[in-house]
Amino acid sequence: MRLILFGAPGVGKGVQGGLLVKKLSIPSISTGDILRAAVKNQTPLGKTAKEFMDRGELVSDDIINNLVKERLKEDDVKNGFILDGYPRTIEQSEFLEGALKDSGIALDSVVSIDVEPEVIVKRLSSRRVDRKTGNIYNMISAPPPEGADVFQRDDDQEETIRHRLDVFDNQTTPLKNYYKEKGLLLEVDGNQAIDKVQNDICGKLKI
Ligand code: AMP
Repeated sequence: MRLILFGAPGVGKGVQGGLLVKKLSIPSISTGDILRAAVKNQTPLGKTAKEFMDRGELVSDDIINNLVKERLKEDDVKNGFILDGYPRTIEQSEFLEGALKDSGIALDSVVSIDVEPEVIVKRLSSRRVDRKTGNIYNMISAPPPEGADVFQRDDDQEETIRHRLDVFDNQTTPLKNYYKEKGLLLEVDGNQAIDKVQNDICGKLKI
């Protein structure tokens, strides 16, 4: 199965993607995770991306498209993949469509997870990430186990969150219609418990 998990920052794409990875045994490709690893390793990509990420801006389409194109050449995506955080612009979605067409494959579905902006701000400002495992916690609804070494992402500060949501509205929301017109869009209410959201996703995907 070839999926896109679509939605604003903080709607739960990472958590839901993780559950789908286990269920479907296909990898999740998170452009945000790839970029954060590059920043951590101080690669040239990481150095270029960092200033955009810290400001909550999008990294250029060229850089991201190339990164995804290379990732999609790896063996583990042969049986399918879940894209998390990509595409985020119409240009990226057109590029993806071309790249998949060249490989003779097509997307099965685009799952849109919807949550209101104010709920997202609350969620993201209380989000913490485990330094070792990358597991995602929430200081209000799903606190980390005692002794866990968690940190707050630089871009999870309230002001940056609000900017990321504006960027999503302006640059990424148009994709919803793009995929709706292609008949690929499935919409799920993200204002529910994690397992309920997962249930709804699996129901819509018929898996
Ligand atoms: P995320 O973890 O998906 O919220 O991504 C964190 C940051 O990485 C974003 O705020 C962007 O700066 C950058 N980023 C991730 N994916 C993309 C993308 N598809 N296009 C442009 N920038 C991206």
